[in-house]
Amino acid sequence: MASLVSPVGPVDLGRRCHAWIPSAGGWGMSNAGLVTGRGESLLVDTLFDLHLTRAMLAGLAPLTGAAPISTVVNTHGNGDHWFGNQFVAHAEIIAARGSLTDMRQAGPAEVRALLAEDSDAGRFARRIFGRFDHRDVQPVLPNRVFDGETVLDIGGTEVRLIDVGAAHSAGDTIVHVPSARTVYTGDIVFVGATPVVWHGPFANGLAACDLLLGLDVDTVVPGHGPVTTKKAVRAVRDYLSYVHEEATARFTAGMPAADAARDIRLGPFADLEESERLAVNVYTVYRELDPGLPPLDGPQSFGRMACLAHP
Ligand SMILES: [Zn+2]
Repeated sequence: MASLVSPVGPVDLGRRCHAWIPSAGGWGMSNAGLVTGRGESLLVDTLFDLHLTRAMLAGLAPLTGAAPISTVVNTHGNGDHWFGNQFVAHAEIIAARGSLTDMRQAGPAEVRALLAEDSDAGRFARRIFGRFDHRDVQPVLPNRVFDGETVLDIGGTEVRLIDVGAAHSAGDTIVHVPSARTVYTGDIVFVGATPVVWHGPFANGLAACDLLLGLDVDTVVPGHGPVTTKKAVRAVRDYLSYVHEEATARFTAGMPAADAARDIRLGPFADLEESERLAVNVYTVYRELDPGLPPLDGPQSFGRMACLAHP
């Protein structure tokens, strides 16, 4: 089965930066980016399956012909940001240390297992991920990890990688190109869709937003959704603050997390797609407030979202 979504092609952001934005949104339809320099380039993320990644690399070929991809950054360890790594295995593939933990725990075998489950979680996963093809995905992990911050020279273009710690996932990296006043945020920022904090703490997600807001940039390439500005970062920050406050109030009142997710009214955020992610977000807040609560594994997270999407 081939992926059904065709990409729109690279979006030229100017000053050697491009974004790769799929023509459709939804679960797993992630963005990527390309930063070119003299004789080499850096790819920000690969995509969720081999069809999508192959199409992207073909679409970028006019840019990478004279500046082959020497470096890949996986912004984090969710499959929609690295499952195409086998096509760029020749490159130096860099990720934050925490991202590697996620990649080892939730690689293509685990995603295939979830998709095969006869459960609410499996049915939900098939509904949202059914358009992707994970059969031939090989887990090609980063061959370089970093902590904190590192600066790369990509053929004369300075690229800063900043590990914002565990927030959306167990380790999230933002990719800042100062000369282009551009930042690639990975899934710290969603546009038009609900932000999700699989790992947390929320404080790290909020701090990551503050860090982004403090950068001297005009262009923000989110992990999902159209190219945007800092306005979208503020919107994510507002969502995280709101959910944290609403979930905390219900925790304090003794309400179970699943009930709290059903009880919270999303108000100004009601139009965001994939609102079922609230179930995971609320649980993450509860886990911060009660460290005795175990983290959710993939099937448990998708089971909770399935319940919220189809009670
Ligand atoms: Zn993503």
